[in-house]
Amino acid sequence: MEKRTFKNIGKAISLLGFGLMRLPLKGESPGDIDYGPAEAMVDRAIEAGVNYFDTAWIYHAGQSEVFAGAALNRHPREKFNLATKLWVRALESADQAEREFGQQLEKCKVNSFDFYLLHNLGEDAWDIARKLRLYELFNKKKEQGLIGNLGFSFHGSPDHLERVAKEYDWDFAQIQVNYLDWDAINAARQYRILTERNIPVIVMEPVRGGALAKLPTKAAEILTDADPTASHSSWAVRYAASLPGVMTVLSGMSNMEQVEDNVKTMTGFRPLSDGERETLERAATAYRSSGFIPCTSCRYCTPCPSGVDIPGVFASYNRYRSELAGANPIAKMIFQMTYSSLVPSEQAHNCTSCEQCKTLCPQSIDIPRGMKEVADFAAE
Ligand code: SF4
Ligand code: SF4
Repeated sequence: MEKRTFKNIGKAISLLGFGLMRLPLKGESPGDIDYGPAEAMVDRAIEAGVNYFDTAWIYHAGQSEVFAGAALNRHPREKFNLATKLWVRALESADQAEREFGQQLEKCKVNSFDFYLLHNLGEDAWDIARKLRLYELFNKKKEQGLIGNLGFSFHGSPDHLERVAKEYDWDFAQIQVNYLDWDAINAARQYRILTERNIPVIVMEPVRGGALAKLPTKAAEILTDADPTASHSSWAVRYAASLPGVMTVLSGMSNMEQVEDNVKTMTGFRPLSDGERETLERAATAYRSSGFIPCTSCRYCTPCPSGVDIPGVFASYNRYRSELAGANPIAKMIFQMTYSSLVPSEQAHNCTSCEQCKTLCPQSIDIPRGMKEVADFAAE
């Protein structure tokens, strides 16, 4: 497994990081993690040399940290670096932040976190973080040895990132980078803002919530023609991992097949050649022309008070757009099948345009508008 070192981090970190946010489930509830297969995936990753594991207060309805504590502590402490995040948006006081930090240590069954992040420092969360002096609070914990490295994750605009990055002496930062978003959400500028300041970058969503593993037909053909033996997600993972200044690329793995594919990609890692980069640019152009809604299924927008399954609705519509881009004559029928797998109370027509979800989407998707688009299409 390829490992990278950064002067300020002081230890070698595996280029593949395991994101503990899309673990296999036993039932429908996001908190109902299926420990057997999920622990087997963690074991295999550690065996292959993965030493960075990323969880958060909110993942799997609070159960991801509990799983991390159970699964990782079956291994020697030096085998894993544990990163978790504080959900800043919901904080009302510094005392609450202190309390939650203590609970996180307990849930994860560790005495300290190797990496600790202020989660999603968009403009709202940033105001809260500054008001509650969270950097100062957690920097003190770093001095006390309770945190190894202090950073933040981010989904906002480059201008706002510039403000956040220059305000404090961050050890690292986590941003969304993939070949589709490099231009689409200005990931290129975000990456430069961090690397120009020598802030090590942790990449999230390299496969865009799985969307770059299930490409629209035309985009898929471009990659398969270029290399029939490589999975489409391995192209996306290599794109992110080829960037200098990237410490680790997080993959939110859901099954053993994904673990094996990522391990294969990151063992004896081969950076992209210029020709492969050009191939990916062509695939990205084909993807964009499919008219997809850029949802990553992160579920930050849920629950909807009207019961709409927002990521489920967008996933079925994106499947349709992708089939349409591939000139599949039964694209509409495929949409009907996937859309009807949502129960009627979860479908787009239940959206009341209350806008509660709108500011919660890190991809800046106009969700009520998207719901109307899908509801109108489904009614056709
Ligand atoms: S705008 Fe629509 S989808 Fe969003 S929370 Fe309101 S009802 Fe739900
Ligand atoms: S609509 Fe936005 S917030 Fe909701 S699941 Fe998709 S990407 Fe996440």
